[in-house]
Amino acid sequence: MNKYFVILAAGKSIRFNSKLPKQFSQYRGKMMIQHSIDKAIKSNLFDKIILVVNKSHKKYIRNVRTNKLIFINGGKRRQDSTFNALKFLKKYKPSKVFIHDAARPNFSINLLSKLSTQMKKSKGVIPYLTSNNSTKYKLINKTINLDRDKVILTQTPQCFDFKTLYELFKLNNKNITDESTLFLDKNKKIKFIKGENNNYKITLKSDLDNSKYKNYFGIGFDIHKLVRSKKLFLGGIRIPFHSGLEGHSDGDVILHSITDAILGATGDKDIGTHYPSNKKKYKNIRSIKMLKPIVNNLNIKGFFINNIDLNLICEKPKVSFYRMKIIKSLSKILNVNKKIINLKGKTVEKLGLIGKEKAIACECIVSINKYE
Ligand code: ZN
Repeated sequence: MNKYFVILAAGKSIRFNSKLPKQFSQYRGKMMIQHSIDKAIKSNLFDKIILVVNKSHKKYIRNVRTNKLIFINGGKRRQDSTFNALKFLKKYKPSKVFIHDAARPNFSINLLSKLSTQMKKSKGVIPYLTSNNSTKYKLINKTINLDRDKVILTQTPQCFDFKTLYELFKLNNKNITDESTLFLDKNKKIKFIKGENNNYKITLKSDLDNSKYKNYFGIGFDIHKLVRSKKLFLGGIRIPFHSGLEGHSDGDVILHSITDAILGATGDKDIGTHYPSNKKKYKNIRSIKMLKPIVNNLNIKGFFINNIDLNLICEKPKVSFYRMKIIKSLSKILNVNKKIINLKGKTVEKLGLIGKEKAIACECIVSINKYE
């Protein structure tokens, strides 16, 4: 396919007014740049994803890693960053390159597919919106009216024939705010396709809170018997213990209660409906494999996890020993920041089956936002 997705994330976010540049701030449950990375990967359209970042910002992206991702250093201006990416990509002999602003995390995978389809017939494809506001153009001595219907506002991702864009960049010496400017300056043909209202650029801190969303809650509970013959898995990791949890799967009560809580919040029945215990193919399945598709589906539908609170109910193992490990594992599985996961340990004063170390239970409550 020989297509590459370049994310420009080297900006200093001066108008954002925060020590942490906006592209690394938390947005809808994860770091802003992560939204663009995840969608580019999920689209299955690209050989590699190039993340262009400022050298001094590398400390913010220590946890951002996938095998399709390459980091390169940004330049002073936007066009320097793009040109750095193009020069780097040259050795891969790309046919097409998509250039995208990290400050637009809300584009859809569908928009990527449309751009890609249109590129079969064009050297450049750009998404645009029309203006809802009356538009004027300010000159030195006067201001003139523009015909609103003829004004277009361009967005990213923008898609180009690699060679054409590279040649234009070699000749360029002026400041540009997007790559299509170079095409238009040289009268090169561009195909404009309808962009997305949702694909707005986040500029000010207040933009982070402007998005409309509905909040949903879900509750989950699970209990499994402890048996000597099994290994213990909690929160997706193996915990050294004398027994493990009996069940059709690995019996991971934490993951099962989270799965049910998420299904509850999104009104999607329960874990038993999705993974019937009488089906052979789910025998001894690791619970990560049950939860992952549900999390993927959640993000595709525009739901984002806001907060998770867990009660792990057992005499042993001691939760405080494994809390951070379990939270780290959960944050990876759920694709959310560790800070929004809380895990509490609860004993039952040696009462009943749980008190006698014959079972482990877990309760979960999850808060989920759906953005419009
Ligand atoms: Zn279970």
